[in-house]
Amino acid sequence: MSNKNFDTCVSFHIHNGAFAGRLVRLNDVLQDIFKRHDYPVNVSAALSETTALAVLLANALKYKGLFTLQIQGNGPVSLLVADVTSEGKVRASAKFDEEKLEKAKALRKTEDEIEEVPHLVGGGYMAFTIDQGPETELYQGVVDLQGKNLTELALRYFKQSEQIDTILKLFVKRPQGESQSWQAAGVLLQKVPVKGGKEFSEDEELLNEVWNEAAVFIGSLSADEIFNADLSSQEILYRLFHAHKLEIGKEKRYEFGCRCNRDKLFSTLSGFSKDEIEEMSEDGKITATCGFCSEKYVFDKTELLKH
Ligand SMILES: [Zn+2]
Repeated sequence: MSNKNFDTCVSFHIHNGAFAGRLVRLNDVLQDIFKRHDYPVNVSAALSETTALAVLLANALKYKGLFTLQIQGNGPVSLLVADVTSEGKVRASAKFDEEKLEKAKALRKTEDEIEEVPHLVGGGYMAFTIDQGPETELYQGVVDLQGKNLTELALRYFKQSEQIDTILKLFVKRPQGESQSWQAAGVLLQKVPVKGGKEFSEDEELLNEVWNEAAVFIGSLSADEIFNADLSSQEILYRLFHAHKLEIGKEKRYEFGCRCNRDKLFSTLSGFSKDEIEEMSEDGKITATCGFCSEKYVFDKTELLKH
């Protein structure tokens, strides 16, 4: 199901620009990610949610290059990674241990439940990286994995590292029927920092009131509403915030896109030692598979050894 209301992120402000928000809804992006992999249900759910969060965060940043959200841990799922270019290309990938996943599944009480990201990933960290090219400094923010779901992990980061008041709600919907894809969505709202340390004086009480109301409204947003393909994101925002001086901003489209290429892989592989290359080769060939798009690249052993 391709739908113009999905695979976009819409920015908005409420209350005269005091609070800035984003609303994301993904369908085709996820479909394109998952058709390249054979992930178990829990891994797909966790990666869908991670991808929605990555797009929300990337969209809220001013950058030219690559934004990466990476969650790494010692649990059954050892890695969830999603990256988003400033041009709107998204890719995502997961690493997991099937045996550990099965064991964890056996311990669960309900059969059909989707497991939360921290349960799957275990102890570890979540990192945000912004890479704007070789001439620039790499930005990285890191937070340890404490919280009962992905939302709590992200909120902890904003509280600890950025000290920005944030409201966040994420949604995941599993495929219903043959032709349908995983869907993920989310809403992010943040207090816009006041310039020059100036404090909101007489308005502070009102601001807090509006903030608390916005939290209640976002909390009340249902999965049925946000995944309703007949509703545009703008309509959803209007339903939520029309009483709060809503200003709807830009809508940006996102699509799946992988940045792997033969030359990059070749230079990586030619960095290995002769013994390692011998070890990896089969019938004189080395096959490397991209972890994001599953594209297979075949190299000649002798070609690699020349370098
Ligand atoms: Zn690739």
